[in-house]
Amino acid sequence: MTLPVIRRAERMDAPVHVPVAIVGAGACGLTAALMLRDAGIECVVLERDAVPSGSTALSSGFVPAPCTRVQQSKSIDDSPQLFAADIQAKAHGTAAPHLATAYAEAIGPAMDALQARHGLDFVLLDDFLYPGHSRHRMHAVPEKTGAGLMARLQQAAETADVPTVTRALVRELWLNERDEVLGVTYERPDGTLEQLSCDALILACNGFGGNAAMVQQLLPEMKDATFAGHTGNDGSAIAWGRALGARLADLGGYQGHGSWAVPQGALVSWALMMEGAVQINALGRRFHDETGGYSEAAVQVLAQPGSVAWNVFDEALLAFARSFPDFCAAEAAGALKRCENEAALAALIGCDAGALHATLAMVAPGAAAPDGRVFKRVLQAPFYAVKVTGALFHTQGGLDIDAHCHVLHEDARPFKNLLAAGGAARGVSGNVVWGYLSGNGLLSAIAGGYIAARSAATLLETKP
Ligand SMILES: Cc1cc2nc3c(=O)[nH]c(=O)nc-3n(C[C@H](O)[C@H](O)[C@H](O)COP(=O)(O)OP(=O)(O)OC[C@H]3O[C@@H](n4cnc5c(N)ncnc54)[C@H](O)[C@@H]3O)c2cc1C
Repeated sequence: MTLPVIRRAERMDAPVHVPVAIVGAGACGLTAALMLRDAGIECVVLERDAVPSGSTALSSGFVPAPCTRVQQSKSIDDSPQLFAADIQAKAHGTAAPHLATAYAEAIGPAMDALQARHGLDFVLLDDFLYPGHSRHRMHAVPEKTGAGLMARLQQAAETADVPTVTRALVRELWLNERDEVLGVTYERPDGTLEQLSCDALILACNGFGGNAAMVQQLLPEMKDATFAGHTGNDGSAIAWGRALGARLADLGGYQGHGSWAVPQGALVSWALMMEGAVQINALGRRFHDETGGYSEAAVQVLAQPGSVAWNVFDEALLAFARSFPDFCAAEAAGALKRCENEAALAALIGCDAGALHATLAMVAPGAAAPDGRVFKRVLQAPFYAVKVTGALFHTQGGLDIDAHCHVLHEDARPFKNLLAAGGAARGVSGNVVWGYLSGNGLLSAIAGGYIAARSAATLLETKP
């Protein structure tokens, strides 16, 4: 991979000038573009792929947001303060406070704007609570998939006439000696280089989960884990930031997932764990409190023999699991195994039947396991099982930004017209895997895109 570079010049004579250029057409870039169009500001989105997908299309598409019209229609008592408190509680107080507050405040208006002005239809997932959320605030498009969310964002962008240049891999950022962005150079598939100048630049090109060398260096515990995100997560924003003397933050933060079906390579919803399923290793034992969170569960599963575990549940939970498109896709791929009784389950796992029996005997309503989990229900034969491993979904560290999504210098001074959001910027999960609250990824992308667009608009208003 050729590294992206910074070019210094006093001026840039590009054939095309645009008020705002956006790098990346995922949830962050498209939200920013739609909000700029609403403000009557011209922008261009530059996207490396022929068809925009990003990690957004690979995700489950679940977005947490308090006080949206959808949530209010269900009379749920929530607030940005409560949401910010949940974010901090999950991160043990280590999430960037200015961003937790700014994103918790912006995400409701951002979702309402996407719904009211751009026809994105959101439903509230109120049949169970995700780990760490004190209120039902998880939203999804009716398809309940990231592909559905991405398709609707793209449709909205087309309807709003947002110019998206695809097959445009941004390579160079141009800045003058005062650290003001002048524009970018992007590369076409045939190697041709093209230039675009701009008054403001928004980096919405996600993190470094797809860059094996950076993962090895910054997240050594995930160096051998499957990366389930988009290959475009190549760390471009961080490489530009390093070359610019920008401050980086929370590079040890990331979203893992402890329920990635193998060998199928598919997500098995963690909702199953929250409702009573358990994870059992090759020794027939549980090994952690599954209700703690799916992100940290990735590390737990990877530490088991063979780096795998079995998600075990029963008929009643299977019916619930089938309400999730992700689960249905994993089942269709052959991940689900049925076992008539404990002996068959032990044979499937390859563990001692006595050890498995002791483990399942602990699973009873009100019973508390030594790891802290309090069970809601018993698991009854026939059993169902899915073999899973721990995967890396996306990184949560990146360019440090202020509450307006301005990229910061090492000394905390904001770059005047360089903005970043979504996975390109520092998130709200602190510097560790367990800090990730469900939905922090799309929260940063959509709320960040919304805020970055507002900041770009302010910048253009005040431009001489
Ligand atoms: C399996 C899975 C499930 C997930 N589920 C959820 C969930 O339910 N809820 C949640 O909140 N989060 C979830 N996430 C995380 C979520 O997908 C991301 O946090 C979010 O999509 C990030 O959005 P983004 O716009 O910043 O980046 P992306 O959606 O990755 O978009 C970035 C875009 O930038 C483009 N790009 C990159 N570099 C360049 C360049 N140099 N030039 C031009 N274009 C470039 C890429 O091609 C890409 O299209 C999940 C992730 C995975 C992998």
